[in-house]
Amino acid sequence: MTKPYQRPAAGIGSVRLHLNENTAGCSPRVLDVLRALDCRAAGRYPDYDAAREAASAWFGVGRDKVVLTNGLDEGILAATGVALRDRTSGAEGLGVVPAFEMYEICTRALGAAYRTVPLGTEFVLPYEAIRRAVGPSTRIVFLTNPHNPSGVVTPADRLRCLAREIAPAILFVDEAYAEFAGVTLVDDTVFDELPNLLVGRTFSKAYGLAGLRVGAVLGAARLIRSVREVLPPYSVNAWAAAALPVAIADVAYRDWYLAESAASRAMLADACRRLRLRTWPSAGNFVLMDLGENARPVTEALNGRGIVVRDRSNDVGCAGCVRVTAGLVEDTRRFISELEALLCDAAR
Ligand SMILES: *Cc1c(COP(=O)(O)O)cnc(C)c1O
Repeated sequence: MTKPYQRPAAGIGSVRLHLNENTAGCSPRVLDVLRALDCRAAGRYPDYDAAREAASAWFGVGRDKVVLTNGLDEGILAATGVALRDRTSGAEGLGVVPAFEMYEICTRALGAAYRTVPLGTEFVLPYEAIRRAVGPSTRIVFLTNPHNPSGVVTPADRLRCLAREIAPAILFVDEAYAEFAGVTLVDDTVFDELPNLLVGRTFSKAYGLAGLRVGAVLGAARLIRSVREVLPPYSVNAWAAAALPVAIADVAYRDWYLAESAASRAMLADACRRLRLRTWPSAGNFVLMDLGENARPVTEALNGRGIVVRDRSNDVGCAGCVRVTAGLVEDTRRFISELEALLCDAAR
């Protein structure tokens, strides 16, 4: 049995550093567009061709190589559905642990088994172990790049090699944090060469549209056609469809936020060094830190002080670890000063 997804506490009115959202929210230009929508926009089924056009131009791939989804979560479900259609010789999903929980949840929800390969203490991709674990019943392999919750990056060429080696199983690379890392597999010719590669992207994280729900799945035209077959016809709502082209076009806003996040990440790494907390080199908008036995009490105490972080202690290989979003510098500063105070108290 898989545990159902545990929706973390909302943390209304708190500094939310637990879900890797854009802590500044969406671009103000996006809000202007949303405010201008009227009753009719709400009353009609959405037309999101223009949004798809904007996304395909932004990703630099043909329109037939991208499909928009109701958040990347729906994209993961759809990709899983495509992979598991062929049930001859069994059907299984495969992934690493620790990992984003939706891969296993979706695979099991669709009635297939899910196997895992553990990441080592450095969270480096266990390439050989994955290759060996892929068998005749493996239909899809899920990886996240940069990895969540550690933020560790796998070079794109390793993933292209892996896709080639595990074909015809699908390699699904979840690039939810690609904007922060500046690393992506999204490329028109790569998709032509790798018919079993799917890449997932989201506008929830760097673009601050988590509340609107819009993501994308990209890959070879044929595979994307299959993904579209398992998706409902109106995945993206009218508000998300109106917001997306504007969010993509506001490059200045995105770049400002990426810089805030990078500065926060450096501040968090620095604080961990000062406080002698183990951490890992993150390229995402978050940092995983090892608080040891303080993980739980510190998470709870921070909560009481209006700062929500994600205790990952119960994840495989994450004993004592807490994941903290690297967003606005002002929020990061507040987190660090509260953390320092709590750890000093604990040491007394
Ligand atoms: C946040 C996250 C998602 C979900 O993205 P949505 O577009 O909001 O559904 C998917 N994968 C990973 C690794 C994430 O961290």
